[in-house]
Amino acid sequence: MLFYSLNNKKYIASFKEAVLQSLATDGTLFFPEQIPLLNDNFISNIYQHDIYTIAMKVIKPFVGKDIPDDLLYKMIINTFHFDIPLKMINDNIYVLELFNGPTLAFKDIGARFMSECLNYFYKIKKCGFLTVLVATSGDTGGAVAKGFHKIDGTEVIILYPSKGISKLQEQQINTLGKNIFSVEIQGNFDDCQNLVKKAFLDIDLQKIYNLTSANSINIARWIPQIVYYFLAYKQIINIEKNKNIIFSVPSGNFGNIFSGMIAEKMGLPIKYFIASTNINDTIPRFLKSGTYHPFISKPTISNAMDISDPSNFARIWNLYSKNMNKLKNKLIAYPFTDKETLSIINMVCTKYKYILDPHGAIGYLGLQQYIKNTQYHTTSESYIFLETAHPVKFFDKMPIKLQKQILGLQPTNFFNKKIGKKNTISITKNFNTFKNWLIKRKN
Ligand SMILES: *Cc1c(COP(=O)(O)O)cnc(C)c1O
Repeated sequence: MLFYSLNNKKYIASFKEAVLQSLATDGTLFFPEQIPLLNDNFISNIYQHDIYTIAMKVIKPFVGKDIPDDLLYKMIINTFHFDIPLKMINDNIYVLELFNGPTLAFKDIGARFMSECLNYFYKIKKCGFLTVLVATSGDTGGAVAKGFHKIDGTEVIILYPSKGISKLQEQQINTLGKNIFSVEIQGNFDDCQNLVKKAFLDIDLQKIYNLTSANSINIARWIPQIVYYFLAYKQIINIEKNKNIIFSVPSGNFGNIFSGMIAEKMGLPIKYFIASTNINDTIPRFLKSGTYHPFISKPTISNAMDISDPSNFARIWNLYSKNMNKLKNKLIAYPFTDKETLSIINMVCTKYKYILDPHGAIGYLGLQQYIKNTQYHTTSESYIFLETAHPVKFFDKMPIKLQKQILGLQPTNFFNKKIGKKNTISITKNFNTFKNWLIKRKN
């Protein structure tokens, strides 16, 4: 498959080129030339297929001939190596648990798939040694560090804000060592992202580095995420027959929900998407007013979604031909406060004995709001929200009376892992300081 730049349809890249470059040289995102349509037979018989077969069917058309089938299949096995179960919470509301990966966040899938791709291009296609730059508000850094750790032909430099990420997230980022480096930026997430963008455009750095990005601007991050929606469908069709399916996706940079919207265009019968956000509500406001106006992002307890200018929204807008009515036929968006988030965590725990993390809680709130607004539909619909992180990851943000219980849920010894040597430096948000550090470490 070929991909074009959102600014210029004539700027074309293969799968391999788009993964290696991350962004077109004009600085815009890549978008698939066509959306592959999967046949009805495959979709209606999906319950017969295992996770690898489904992932292969979904991912293969995007990769085309750039990776041979047998190797792609191996990469898929290495990527989808943990459970993604669907569980019922109450009535016809279900949760798809995406948090069983090594860093307990859904980003483990995209990060691992991307590292497998880069490793293949390095080893077989002999592309040069790659430096992966990544800005993180918390979860991306850990998932990318784990996904790329000891992967030949790559090194990773993670930029994270000095305030705003949790202790556990920091530990996941800067104690692995080997080919993983981290830089603590004395600033916020936007400052980190700015430094990464500037580094990409810098001519001096281009001479000494082969830079790519592991943020969800890279197509290899969101393509494997399309599979989540097929896996949810596989698990729900036998329980909820002939119902319309509504997905609520806790959204920050809008990569995950974009993957879902691609799944729908590939033929998966999804009636509606709900983009559930925290108070960083640029998209809910955009859908209401038609004006795209980001404010400076505000910190919340769902910190992986503290993003006010989501880069993947440009892809969603393009998918719906930049037409507001078409988009509104598939997408609705609701914002929620921290107070609402904590209160739903308490309610769902007390009433249904299920512990949500702050991000999944916002997904649940989105469904609740939708059901409230469209009551007469409910008997013909079933509802799925995505649980994007394990609650233990954010246990210090959770209602105090639940914290002990949450620690009891942790996967074996999650907190007791041996802490490796810190492999990080701390610098100001000044670009020249960052640039000089990058140049110096190469000499
Ligand atoms: C990154 C992240 C999100 C937001 O996903 P996007 O694809 O950026 O919209 C939601 N929840 C968690 C836990 C995350 O780490």
